[in-house]
Amino acid sequence: MRINLLTQILVAFVIAVILGAFVGEPMVVVKPLGDLFLNLIKFIIVPLVLSSLVVGVASTGSPKTLGRIGGKTVAYYLATTLVAVVIGLALGFLFAPGAGVDIQVSGEKFEQPETKGVVETLLAIVPTNPFAALAEGNILQIIFLAIFVGVAMTLVGEKAGSVHRFFDSLAEVMYKITGIVMHFAPVGVFGLIAPVVAEHGLSVLLPLIKVILAVAVGCMLHACVIYSLAVKSMANMSPLRFFKAISPAATIAFSTASSSGTLPVTLKNTQENLGVSNKIASFVLPLGATVNMDGTAIYQGVAVLFIAEYYGSELTFAGLITVVLTAVLASIGTAGVPGAGLIMLTLVLSSVNLPLEGIALIAGIDRILDMFRTCVNVVGDASAAVVVAASEKELTTPQQDTATVAV
Ligand code: ASP
Repeated sequence: MRINLLTQILVAFVIAVILGAFVGEPMVVVKPLGDLFLNLIKFIIVPLVLSSLVVGVASTGSPKTLGRIGGKTVAYYLATTLVAVVIGLALGFLFAPGAGVDIQVSGEKFEQPETKGVVETLLAIVPTNPFAALAEGNILQIIFLAIFVGVAMTLVGEKAGSVHRFFDSLAEVMYKITGIVMHFAPVGVFGLIAPVVAEHGLSVLLPLIKVILAVAVGCMLHACVIYSLAVKSMANMSPLRFFKAISPAATIAFSTASSSGTLPVTLKNTQENLGVSNKIASFVLPLGATVNMDGTAIYQGVAVLFIAEYYGSELTFAGLITVVLTAVLASIGTAGVPGAGLIMLTLVLSSVNLPLEGIALIAGIDRILDMFRTCVNVVGDASAAVVVAASEKELTTPQQDTATVAV
């Protein structure tokens, strides 16, 4: 009997949790398997995003259509992130995770990340050297480059035919590589999960169990309520079908704690299982992996309340509004890599004058929280792709049989 790949991944996941918990520390030896898988999917990102976005834009036809798609995407991203912070804060109040916690904060100094002004941030999106942008894997710059090349290709017309065919073939090849690498996913997931569970024994998790629960419940609520409502009401898609189709990417996001690293799988699932056109997916998803972080926003809401409670400071209503605004900005500024949300939390803390040392309280369990939040970050990007595609009439019947989900 052939077991489908998604089942294999889930089985590997469960075995990793069990072995990690019971065998403990020695399970860290399997970490290279996880790192190998992570490297393999990361190496697909740059050529895949570049080629599929160039082709997507070139087939869009006009900058006007592109502007409209961009506007809808940003509006959806902002609205869902705002709701996410509010859910995070509400759960922070409900769970009161800081009450009775007794952990010593280390004297370590935490530096607030350097923040750039709006003009500087926008300017940084334009690469001075496109090859450097590709070499550094700067996704926002690559998006800019791809859009520019794609638009120019439409203006050139016929003569750009061979460039179009080149990027089209490159995208196909990269999708094929994603498919091949995914066959290794069960081993990769095992190698990623077992060491995490082994390193975070129960003794590390228990004192902060309420924080973990609040973030996990917040993530589930946000996904089940907000994304279900969005795909049902705006794309007339059954939420169950949506979650099933995106489950491979969600599992990889959970295991890798990186939205950027998961991007090739998100692109594949969204197009093959959900029927989103390449034009929409190749634009909405890379952007989302870089700026849309609903899970991170939920986490920041919970974490701020936890830290405030620990230090015994009450947040005023104005303070809460400040948290909402800065958490939205901080989540936008968070890179789609493991642990980035923890660093950006310092911005939110300093906006309401809470000690930055507070992040030391949750640093020990950050990886666990990161897994939940990244999962929501990725599913949120996919929901945006579905909603925007439906509004642009770019949602087709998926290539795959709906009963089976391609990984
Ligand atoms: N790891 C998250 C992601 O890649 C970002 C974060 O740390 O919140 O989406």
